[in-house]
This record gives sequence, structure tokens and C-alpha cells, in this order.
Amino acid sequence: MKFLIVDDNYNNRILLQKMLSQYGDCDMAIDGKEAVDAFKMAMDDGQPYNLICLDIMMPEMNGQEALKVIREYERSKGIEKDNGVKIIMATALYTPQDLIEAFFNGGCNDYLTKPIKRAELLALLERYGFKA
Ligand SMILES: [Mg+2]
Repeated sequence: MKFLIVDDNYNNRILLQKMLSQYGDCDMAIDGKEAVDAFKMAMDDGQPYNLICLDIMMPEMNGQEALKVIREYERSKGIEKDNGVKIIMATALYTPQDLIEAFFNGGCNDYLTKPIKRAELLALLERYGFKA
């Protein structure tokens, strides 16, 4: 499995890496712009990510914007959402607007509330079939 961890906070990235590294290779990005670049590069190389953990609040490009760009890129390559990368949004506090934006306008798969709990993250991995 191939995971992309996106968060502007170093500690959050390391924490997620610790949770995910036994289930696959983890790459990291520090903002939405880096995430989009990494996502496109992996896809163009024919080695797309299976999962992206995407923080919402980040400088440069936030998670909501990155989510839309990623889904748009998949669509441009003829990939339907069900066959696309699994995207989990993460933030400390969700407003109803955040959720509408992420699910209905953005096309994320799930969301987790920070601090992310290992059990919750692993439950999602299991549901996606990424955890043996
Ligand atoms: Mg952040």
C-alpha cells in the first residue's frame, strides 16, 4: 500500500506515519500544493497512492482545495471516485460547512477528528481493505 500524509504540522505527520507505516509506504507533504504535486507525480508514474490523509487547515493550499484538485485530476484521467484514491480529511473542529464542502463538493471518503485515534484510523484502513 502507498500512503500520502498531508499536514503542515511536523508532529502530526510523524504521528500518522507511526500509525500507518506498518501497513504501507508513507510519503509526506506539508501543504495542499505539495500534496497535489505528489499525487499527480505518483499517478503519472503509474504508482498512485491508495490513501491520502489530508489535513484541512494548511497554508498555501488548504485541504479542501487540494481535495478538489485531486478529484478533478482523477476525473480528467477518466477515473471515477469509487476507483480513485481514498481520501480521509482531518481537522480538530468540523463545522457543518466543512463537512458539506468535503463530502458533497469535494468527494472525500471519510473524515477523522484530531487528535486522530489509532483505532479509528485502523478501522478505516480495514474497511478499505488496506489492512491484512
Ligand atoms: Mg493544519
